[in-house]
Amino acid sequence: MNLSGNIGYNLEFLGDHLKPALLVSLLSVWVLVVVFWYLNSYTRRRYFTIWTAAWLFYGLWLTLFFWGRSAVKVEPFWLMWLKQWCICVSAVFLLWGSLRFLGERVSQRLIGLSLAFLLAWSFTDTYCVGATRYQMEWPVFAFFGLASMLTSYAFYRYRRRRRFLGGALLAIGFFFWGLYLGSYPLFEISDGMVATGFFISTVLQLLIALGMIIMVLEQVRFNRARQNVYERDKLQTKVWFSEERYQRLFEQAHEGIVIAARSDLRILELNRAAEAMLGLTLPQAVSQSLATFCQVKTLPDPAPKSGRDWFELICSQRPLHLVHKTGALIPAETTGAPIEFAGQSAYQFFFRELTDQSRLEEQLRQAEKLSSLGQMISGVAHELNNPLAVISGYMELILRTHELPAKTRQDLEKVANESSRAARLVRNFLAFARSQPAHREMVNFNDLITGVIDLRQFDLSLGHVRIDALLDRALPPTSASRDQIHQVLNILINNATQAMARSPEPRIIRLSTAFKEGRVLITVEDNGPGVPEEIQKRIFEPFFTTKETGLGTGLGLSIAHGIMSEHGGSIRFQKSSLGGAAFALDLPVVSIEVPKSAAADFQPAQQDRLAQASPRPDKVLVVDDEKAIVEMLGEMLTLLGYQPHLCFSAREGLEKIKETAFDLVMSDLRMPEIDGPAFYRMAVQADGRLERRFVFLTGDTVNEETRAFLKASGKPFLAKPFRMAGIEKITRQALRGREEGDGKPDRDEISI
Ligand code: ADP
Repeated sequence: MNLSGNIGYNLEFLGDHLKPALLVSLLSVWVLVVVFWYLNSYTRRRYFTIWTAAWLFYGLWLTLFFWGRSAVKVEPFWLMWLKQWCICVSAVFLLWGSLRFLGERVSQRLIGLSLAFLLAWSFTDTYCVGATRYQMEWPVFAFFGLASMLTSYAFYRYRRRRRFLGGALLAIGFFFWGLYLGSYPLFEISDGMVATGFFISTVLQLLIALGMIIMVLEQVRFNRARQNVYERDKLQTKVWFSEERYQRLFEQAHEGIVIAARSDLRILELNRAAEAMLGLTLPQAVSQSLATFCQVKTLPDPAPKSGRDWFELICSQRPLHLVHKTGALIPAETTGAPIEFAGQSAYQFFFRELTDQSRLEEQLRQAEKLSSLGQMISGVAHELNNPLAVISGYMELILRTHELPAKTRQDLEKVANESSRAARLVRNFLAFARSQPAHREMVNFNDLITGVIDLRQFDLSLGHVRIDALLDRALPPTSASRDQIHQVLNILINNATQAMARSPEPRIIRLSTAFKEGRVLITVEDNGPGVPEEIQKRIFEPFFTTKETGLGTGLGLSIAHGIMSEHGGSIRFQKSSLGGAAFALDLPVVSIEVPKSAAADFQPAQQDRLAQASPRPDKVLVVDDEKAIVEMLGEMLTLLGYQPHLCFSAREGLEKIKETAFDLVMSDLRMPEIDGPAFYRMAVQADGRLERRFVFLTGDTVNEETRAFLKASGKPFLAKPFRMAGIEKITRQALRGREEGDGKPDRDEISI
């Protein structure tokens, strides 16, 4: 049969060409085997191994032609059988590899079984149908052709996904190779046709080898490109991450960071801390020159012109003062560095606020100042006690013993009242300096406020401030330290006055009282500027002040807060209905039994004139290094009918004790040379009777040592300044104790 005759060409080679064609085809198969084997070792893809096996069996099939191929000679049975089986195995492996390439999994057992089946089948096929080679070969090559078509389809699909030239060549190569294999039995008609078939297959096999090489190269290039994209993405992500981290650091830094253009210091970027320092938001600050927000100590001559000059000047300031939009100066430590920012040359400045550090240092200085001030006050208060005792004592003597015109008496009573107040203040100063609880009494706040207004009205009127009161008449008296509450009211009035200094008139301060749910409420309000929202939380902090140095210590409200807490009450800031600030104090209503003696202490002026008491035989020795005190006590004791003997030192007193048998000794506790306790011991040694006839005089009942001594000795004491009533009571009790022999008078009654 001449296949090519119909189309005008004679494609049939001569039978002599069979061997060279076979050889060429076999060589090209070996090329394929090497290519697939190499690609397998390079790509480590399983389907290459399988396909290599397919080519090996195909190569074996071709090799077997060398034994028996001849158009006339009938091949031996074993050869036919083996060739049949080789082609079957090659087809199975090609199919298996293609399925694998398509991502389908085929079990190896199935492959093994099919190979065994094909072995048996080719045996029976060769044996039974051996007579007609055509019939025998047809199904096998049809199967092989289909397997090749499937491989072609696999590459076609792959090519659609990746658009590789190699994929296209392989799809074409396997397609035609499949066609050739499927129709191979037709070529068997003559050696010439077989040779033609082999030449065709050689071309196709080389095409497949070439396609495979190209495809693998393309794959490598593609993977590398993908890897590059991946690397680029990874790098991009890294950049984003670090940019975000930088942004977060930038925004959250405690230090103010400002980025400014290198040419003219125009602000390009600033973080939140810098916004707070300058009091501006980024859009407000951007494009303004950073130099306008920096106050330098002295501007050099000539003034800096370029951005670089400014940069050096700003960084050299220690500290630099940043100007807040309100005009406040913020001391800051500055560092800077040139950077590239958004494609332009810039400087990055770091500003570390020194305010906290400076404030701490200032607070420390204040605390030290206050501590030495406290010591000084305590000393002054102590020294004041004696003259005060003399003033109020003589005042009492005058009021009690002299006939006075009504107006003079009234005026003197005022002096006596004020000296009593001064004495209480001194006592509270001492208590404050030594953290002792202040003296408590029943206080009517309406009266207290009226008194405060009376006292302050004049000086407030000088500042054109009107002070008025809205008082709740139902306000019950409550236990409190009159002087401390007085102090609180004074603090609040002073603050209001200072706050209103620049306010237009009328300037009003209003004090009001109310009684609600068992508590006393006092409000001090003004129509000044009020307290700005942002500092409201801080005004009660110690040392917090918005006033200039010298005007405010920042302690007023914190002292007021401390006093109110000590009273079981509170102080709160509110907005005033007058338009300014309001401070609301509230206190629980607490009642205490006020000892009569103490009550008498504070109302000396109300006492009636006292006639000279009938003389008593009791001899009283008075010992104090303060001459005025001794003399005043002498006069008081004389007025009470006693026979006082006056001494100005303990030594003098001891001599007198040796000469005279005293009924009572009144001695100061703190004296030079021999102090009160030593004098007591020596006096008792000299006259044992005096053990129960001793009364101490003291100006400092809050002194730890004094208190400890008085407690341990159990001796009665008189606190300066003295009141006649107190002296009378204590002497009487001490002398009665002597008569009764217990020598232990009621301490509450006498320790006034
Ligand atoms: P100082 O008066 O020494 O500053 P204070 O503790 O008494 O200390 O007050 C703290 C701050 O509270 C003041 O600096 C001021 O800013 C604010 N303040 C207090 N009272 C008023 C008021 N009546 N009106 C406005 N601000 C006030």
